[in-house]
Amino acid sequence: MRLRNVTGSREVIAESRFVVPEETLKEMPGKWQGLFGNQHPIHIEIGMGKGQFLHAMAKNHPGINYVGIEKYSTVLLRAVQKMEQDELPNLRFIRMDAEEIAEVFGAGEVARIYLNFSDPWPKDRHAKRRLPSREFLVRYDRILAEDGRIEFKTDNRALFDFAVEELEPAGWKAKVLTYDLHADPVLMEGNVMTEYEEKFSAMGNPICKYVITR
Ligand code: SAM
Repeated sequence: MRLRNVTGSREVIAESRFVVPEETLKEMPGKWQGLFGNQHPIHIEIGMGKGQFLHAMAKNHPGINYVGIEKYSTVLLRAVQKMEQDELPNLRFIRMDAEEIAEVFGAGEVARIYLNFSDPWPKDRHAKRRLPSREFLVRYDRILAEDGRIEFKTDNRALFDFAVEELEPAGWKAKVLTYDLHADPVLMEGNVMTEYEEKFSAMGNPICKYVITR
């Protein structure tokens, strides 16, 4: 998702109290609960887009601290604007490329990672850029608590098949795996739809999901 250039989005992001300043990110490992001023678990969404999913999750689960990560300030701006209208104490944002994620969170500091409708990068030579790739799984392994998990949803079957094939070589196991999430009433309990999930399920696309642990 890349929105047309929005004038001043970088400046708004730089000044927003909901966005952790880029220049302080490398000092943050081990300090995330301190930022929220509590001992609640940290859950993150990587590639959160406009933040619809994370805003709803933070509202539904006040005992969890949520951090949304988004590469583009024009997109992140929408999440910031939503927080200005409906402020939540347990939600903060980072503008960065997730390739640097292991430099921003400490070892075991994150209890859960959400990947929702990640960009497919269909060319083989770009496979390393896919957020559920083995290269990213190594980064997630560093920051995720021992009993932590990753939850991934997508309607893109080719990307999902790739993500499932990456698990064994990277040392991860699927606890949950479905090719039609919305047809499973048990898995749908508490499901919060992302912006892309709403759009693609309305078009009739089945939604794939896995939950993985080491
Ligand atoms: N998660 C949202 C949803 O389900 O509605 C947005 C999905 S959108 C297809 C993917 C988002 O991930 C885009 O906003 C894109 O900018 C972001 N993204 C892709 N690669 C990223 C990376 N390496 N680091 C941070 N964000 C990334």
